[in-house]
Amino acid sequence: NSPLSETDPEIAAVLAAELDRQRHTLEMIASENFVSRGILQTQGSVLTNKYAEGYPGKRYYGGCEAVDVAENLARDRAKALFGADHANVQPHSGASANAAVLMALANPGDRILGLELAHGGHLTHGMRLNFSGKMYEAHAYELHPETFLIDMDIVRKRAHEVKPAVLIAGWSAYTRKLDFAEFRKIADEVGAKLWVDMAHFAGMVATGLYPNPVPYADVVSTTVHKTLAGPRSGLILCKEEYAKKIDSAVFPGQQGGPLMHVVAGKAVAFKAAMTDEFKDRQKRTLEGAAIIANRLMQSDVTSNGVQVLTGGTEVHMVLVDLRNAPINGQETEDLLHEVGITVNRNSVPNDPRPPMVTSGVRIGTPALATRGFGAEQFTEVAEIIAGVLVPNPDIAALRARTRKLTEAFPLYSGLENW
Ligand code: PLP
Repeated sequence: NSPLSETDPEIAAVLAAELDRQRHTLEMIASENFVSRGILQTQGSVLTNKYAEGYPGKRYYGGCEAVDVAENLARDRAKALFGADHANVQPHSGASANAAVLMALANPGDRILGLELAHGGHLTHGMRLNFSGKMYEAHAYELHPETFLIDMDIVRKRAHEVKPAVLIAGWSAYTRKLDFAEFRKIADEVGAKLWVDMAHFAGMVATGLYPNPVPYADVVSTTVHKTLAGPRSGLILCKEEYAKKIDSAVFPGQQGGPLMHVVAGKAVAFKAAMTDEFKDRQKRTLEGAAIIANRLMQSDVTSNGVQVLTGGTEVHMVLVDLRNAPINGQETEDLLHEVGITVNRNSVPNDPRPPMVTSGVRIGTPALATRGFGAEQFTEVAEIIAGVLVPNPDIAALRARTRKLTEAFPLYSGLENW
């Protein structure tokens, strides 16, 4: 019963250092967020001790009465939140959810068709070294070469050429809405199943601020930890006819025992996502991204060769295009780090620089919106980022400005004494 600081001071120091980092920097990695105290508590609870292979009421282990309640709550809340027939809340991560989806919808060797990785797609949508590229015959559709938008004529043409078993819609780096009705039409034209991976935009779907793919797709997968702000994990939603296949693809197909502390944390996240507070947070997320995009399109930044991909954003991220800038993605990520802003570099379509360097950065607003930022603070953040992207930035002055913002919005107060 001794505290961690006594039993393992080295790891206790890691927890303290990470808490300090999160408190004193601006977290702008588009796929990250801050979970609530309730979720931290659930994930650090005794539920972590429990084995519960199987599904509620049909477990392969005894003693599942309490965790069954948690899993049923998580399933029911996920279904209500997104309007789905069926929910599987057991995937350990987005990638394991996606492995189960493909296992349920396709046979090894079948053709799949998704957005090109270098154009904003995800590893699990057919990347060569990923299970999805090794187990299936993966093909890709690309963005329109001039607008950098997903062009449904291009998707349709590729779908008719490839005739995939599964057509995939969804992205990791893209700033516009998708036309799910059109994806459905194309899938039907070529006899494909439609799978939507809404990992990035699920929080906006939950609050009606992004089109809901559930009515159109055969199966929808998501992570729970991005805009949804839940524990690091995955979720699968599907039509009733796929329920059995999805459940058996997750367990025993891909996983053993579910992580019941995480499943319970998902239930907490789905309940929170039904509140007005959450909708307000998603609105501030979108507003913040729009403010940053608009600021980076002003002439002091653009005259330095910096552009915003697609000329703006409709989502929680901004994609900065540095192909014509003197500074590359790696250097920009490093400079932003020095001023106390955490982002990740990202390849842009037709990127002339190698993947470890890149010509882009992805800037996301979900974590700062969770922290409480609104238009006023995002305007200041946009000024700081713009200040890094012009020649000869004053790093020390910009660092002082980020510190002031972090101090005005304390994070996890008192957590060090938990
Ligand atoms: N799907 C998409 C679209 C993603 O962006 C990601 C994460 O970056 C994943 C799936 C994978 O999620 P995880 O990192 O939890 O495996």
